[in-house]
Amino acid sequence: MSRGGRHAVAVHTGDCTHGGASRAKPISREQALAALAAHLEPCTICRPDRDLGML
Ligand SMILES: [Zn+2]
Repeated sequence: MSRGGRHAVAVHTGDCTHGGASRAKPISREQALAALAAHLEPCTICRPDRDLGML
């Protein structure tokens, strides 16, 4: 039961407005790349990984 483990979506595009963005902050392209490189979860709505061309 690790709190905020698997569902802690940490990477969004700056345009993502999907639900309750209390802990999700829009980040820059470079920040998104760094976050994805650190294996943070990309948002499945805005798909920053796809937007960044990492697929
Ligand atoms: Zn998002």
